[in-house]
Amino acid sequence: MNADVYEIFNSVQGEGTSVGVRQVFVRFCSCQLHCEYCDTGAARVPAKRCRVLDRHIDNPLGVDAVIDAIDDLWTPATRSISLTGGEPLLHCDFIEELAGGVSRPIYLETNAGLPDSARKIVDHIDVAACDIKLPEHRATGDYGGLLDAELESIGIFHATGVETFVKIIVLPETTEKSISGAVFGIKAIDDSIPLVMQPVTPLSVDIFQLLDLMDFAGTHLSDVRMIPQLHRMIGIP
Ligand code: SF4
Repeated sequence: MNADVYEIFNSVQGEGTSVGVRQVFVRFCSCQLHCEYCDTGAARVPAKRCRVLDRHIDNPLGVDAVIDAIDDLWTPATRSISLTGGEPLLHCDFIEELAGGVSRPIYLETNAGLPDSARKIVDHIDVAACDIKLPEHRATGDYGGLLDAELESIGIFHATGVETFVKIIVLPETTEKSISGAVFGIKAIDDSIPLVMQPVTPLSVDIFQLLDLMDFAGTHLSDVRMIPQLHRMIGIP
């Protein structure tokens, strides 16, 4: 099995409930969405080569090459493999094979828009960091369909016992109304699923707007947090 991989590197998780945890990141190419704030635009399309430290390896990569790179980049403080993108669920067959060849915890960062793929790999995932997009992200022309798909994926991960949390990127134009579909959708699955509200970077969201949005979400959900992107703040990949 082969996949186009944009880069493999070791860094610190900068988002969500595992912020600060050292990971090896496998950033897959391609994404089915087109969020306005996307900061990984180069990985949304196929790349000719994958960057691993100062090496550039021709794509597509085989599973063994990715496992070798993960092993090379592993350090004593590293705790898990982060599958990111682009959208890793576009490579679910590859992930299934990769998971069979490693004994390290797997952390999935996904836009959660592909529930059939989520169902396929759920048994291999330890932590699922699932985005819910908002209408103002302009990620798709079918917002209702995407929201339904995201909630279905979140339900699949949560029901299977995967440690699951939801991340929402907050933009200056984000309102109670625009996050209500996400909040009530999570509540319908399980109101204890953590919701991380992440202000877009560079920070352009008013802090009082963020606090009001947290209070609205916190009226319906038991674990609501505001976590900015650590890696952007300290200037690491
Ligand atoms: S889902 Fe992620 S990778 Fe895809 S366009 Fe949105 S921010 Fe970029």
